[in-house]
Amino acid sequence: MKLYNTMSRRIEEFVPIVPGKVSMYCCGPTVYNYAHIGNLRTYIFEDLLHRTLIRAGYDLCHVMNITDVGHLTGDGDDGEDKLGKRSRETGKSVWEIADFYTKAFFADEKDLDIIRPDIICKATDHIQDMIDLIKRLEDRGHTYTSGGNVYFSIDTIDDYGKLARLNLDDLKSGARIEVDSNKRNPKDFVLWFTNSKFKDQAMTWDSPWGRGYPGWHIECSAMSMKYLGEQFDIHCGGIDAIPVHHTNEIAQSEAATGHTWVNYWCHGEFLVNDKGKMSKSTGEFLTLSLLKEKGYDPLDYRYFCLSGHYRSQLMFSYEALDHARAARKGIVQKVAELKAAAAPAAEPSEEARKYMADFDSAMENDLSAPQALSVLHLLLKSPISPSDKLAAIYHMDGILGLDLESVEPYKEEKIGGDEEWALVEERAKAKKERNYQRADEIRAELLKRGYIVKDTPSGPVLEKNV
Ligand code: AMP
Ligand code: ZN
Repeated sequence: MKLYNTMSRRIEEFVPIVPGKVSMYCCGPTVYNYAHIGNLRTYIFEDLLHRTLIRAGYDLCHVMNITDVGHLTGDGDDGEDKLGKRSRETGKSVWEIADFYTKAFFADEKDLDIIRPDIICKATDHIQDMIDLIKRLEDRGHTYTSGGNVYFSIDTIDDYGKLARLNLDDLKSGARIEVDSNKRNPKDFVLWFTNSKFKDQAMTWDSPWGRGYPGWHIECSAMSMKYLGEQFDIHCGGIDAIPVHHTNEIAQSEAATGHTWVNYWCHGEFLVNDKGKMSKSTGEFLTLSLLKEKGYDPLDYRYFCLSGHYRSQLMFSYEALDHARAARKGIVQKVAELKAAAAPAAEPSEEARKYMADFDSAMENDLSAPQALSVLHLLLKSPISPSDKLAAIYHMDGILGLDLESVEPYKEEKIGGDEEWALVEERAKAKKERNYQRADEIRAELLKRGYIVKDTPSGPVLEKNV
């Protein structure tokens, strides 16, 4: 399997730490609002990676966090706590907000056929793990306390910013407005807030540095190492996480352990619209529920995401979504016809297996979903038998996640209900008995009900009177 590694900026052969096993951590949602469909694109990409790793035969442990504290509206320790802000706006408690939007997030994931990660961990359930990690950093001399907050000092390590390839000289002399005057270096970041900028902060915990709450980045380091160990295989997220969040996660994790933390960094590109990056604040706030209200199936959106490579920007428009819907419906229709004709082959032919292998190798080549979809379309057009086709389609859908196995077999639409067909039979009997008056009465009755009865060589049929 090959994966693009943001750290090396190259596509690399994937070699796990433990043969046959994969440990993977994906930054999860901040649960202060509904996910927008851009956020969901990132989780669909991670789901494709999850399914492809399983297909490649790995024993996968996939961990995802739920950020329910510490994520400020600005990534660089500026702004206010996203959940706190939402709580003030709505009058609901931060806990209610977190619970509500966590449930909404998982409902979206289910609708999109996203497989649940093996471990889902909430930041607020892991405060002690974060405190322990900060203590470790403190013991190793990587922290300082200023203005009541505990900071990570990036000048105590020599490779800060390696993931984003940040030029630190530019950063120091740059015109970036720094809001936190407690910082020794503008790029230092908060590990623990005690002197909160927000006096009414609802979520606080006791710590060796006073009552307060953790910075955003420390949660991912603490929870990933708790569940996956101090070195693991893959870390994922959206590309916006590279310059600050993932950069800081690496700094503190490697400073704490003294060795490499993650081997492969995989990032999904943005969903964009005509105004740029899709976000909650610009343009229409596009949620999956909104798409459903507009009559789309969530799997139309999943198909739309499959049609672009995860490392390319994907431009959203309703027109493009309509194309995705038409394409998905076309596949569903073909599958329905195939299901009416045959059952999937238990032992697919060599030809069918070739399509399956082509599909898998497209996915195993840095998740080339558009190429994998084109293999599916070639298969649908191919002359191989319906049962072989179905077997190959189901195999592919194990990764595509378009729920094709539950498509109902195609049935010719039955015209007329039981009562109408009883009348058709009575009419046939009347005609046989030369009771033409009764036969005509029935014809008139059926017409009143909206049907025309026609006699054909294979017997009477009903047609709708349109
Ligand atoms: P958040 O809930 O804001 O922490 O974001 C959840 C995930 O969505 C993160 O991995 C972000 O990088 C990602 N994300 C945010 N905006 C977009 C977008 N427009 N397209 C794709 N992914 C995004
Ligand atoms: Zn994270």
